[in-house]
Amino acid sequence: MPAPSKAPRVDAPEAPAFDGAHSVELTGELTDAQVVAALLEVGGPQLDGLAVKTTTTLGAAAAAALGAVEARVLDVAEAAFAGDAVEALRGALSTNGFLRALRTADPEAFADLDEARAAHDLAPLSLNDDDDEEDEDDDEDGVYCDGEGCEAVLVDDAAVFTDGASDYCGACAARRPGGPELRETTARARVAEVAGDDDSDGGEAP
Ligand SMILES: [Zn+2]
Repeated sequence: MPAPSKAPRVDAPEAPAFDGAHSVELTGELTDAQVVAALLEVGGPQLDGLAVKTTTTLGAAAAAALGAVEARVLDVAEAAFAGDAVEALRGALSTNGFLRALRTADPEAFADLDEARAAHDLAPLSLNDDDDEEDEDDDEDGVYCDGEGCEAVLVDDAAVFTDGASDYCGACAARRPGGPELRETTARARVAEVAGDDDSDGGEAP
């Protein structure tokens, strides 16, 4: 009798320790080879940030691998590069379509990077930007209920009741004693109204 085939297979690859993490740091006394090997493991479109804080001076091999990393933010502000490594890093950065931002202690070395990227149809990198706060984007699109004691934040298709000056969630609108008539809209529409003709409102579905 054959072995039961229902038993769950457990040969899925072991999830790496950084799975689910948005940022990875490479720290310590790392050789070029170690940096390259580490990058092969951690790179991926899901990676938000990669920070390198080695105590060694990295050469061109590590620099080229770092410059090509599939992450959104590359932080080399605390990494040291040999002379030709800076060139290698810059070269790789100029063709890296994953990257959005770069942090470096030497922004001047990358001053002409945007031009090089433009030649490859890539957007400029933001240099040394404080972009750890991307989560705040979510808040910006919300409508804050003005009901007394209510701190509801309404987003997307949530109903918003407005008199044009104050906005209320459904519960606050319902228990409001009176006053100007309220118009029902959605948080998304209300945000757009308040922002006026918002240029960034392009890709949204109607
Ligand atoms: Zn409310």
